[in-house]
Amino acid sequence: MNQRYRGYLIDLDGTLFRGREVIEGGLSLIMGLEKRGIPYLYLTNNASRRPEQVAERLQAFGYPAQPEQVVTSAQATAHWMRERFHRPAVYAIGEEGLQEALREAGCTFSEQQPDAVVMGIDRSYSYEKMKTACLAIRAGARFIGTNGDLALPTDEGLLPGNGSLIAGVAAATGTQPVLIGKPERPIMDFALERLGTAPEETLVVGDNLMTDIQAGVNAGIDTLLVFSGVTTPAEYRQATIQATHTCDDLREWEYL
Ligand SMILES: [Mg+2]
Repeated sequence: MNQRYRGYLIDLDGTLFRGREVIEGGLSLIMGLEKRGIPYLYLTNNASRRPEQVAERLQAFGYPAQPEQVVTSAQATAHWMRERFHRPAVYAIGEEGLQEALREAGCTFSEQQPDAVVMGIDRSYSYEKMKTACLAIRAGARFIGTNGDLALPTDEGLLPGNGSLIAGVAAATGTQPVLIGKPERPIMDFALERLGTAPEETLVVGDNLMTDIQAGVNAGIDTLLVFSGVTTPAEYRQATIQATHTCDDLREWEYL
């Protein structure tokens, strides 16, 4: 059989695991790709963890994840910066994953007249950080966000995501950021480059219509929406965005 999809870009939360629980369909999908020798990458908007940490988390659920198979919005942001600036000075708000990715990309860190303000989720966000970011943007720094997710599903409930932190800075400066993560193009272009497949032979798999599926639509990549996470079948029936394929459980997927 001639396989149409030669590479997969796969979401994590709600697709491969939910909280502390593995999703059996996710394991089945990955094992099927391994068996068939089809390349794939784990694609996450989470900018707080290093790829090694993301891979370790996946391994704990039983996924054969290697750090080089992980694409984070922090890496995509660092790549985007490297392509546009030569060793830029950045003011970065964010955790370890973002700081390390920017450092590896040759960025230097400065609060004084940075070329860019880069924002990722930061659990120790403060008025002082917001103030530094706003003054820099007012003084002409580019404003870049790793991703625009407004809320993060957790065991405690929906917590404020990076998009909510960014919204405050955008309101205070009257400046909208360039966003890198799903559903925007930059992370998809970066992931395709890493995966080495063309858009028309690649499949995006995810549970979130507004991020995963919209990302595929924006980048001209086919999509598989699985109803194991955020988007419910009822919401999907009302939606204007359409996935190429849908399923209730990834164990049903036939590797078209
Ligand atoms: Mg998800």
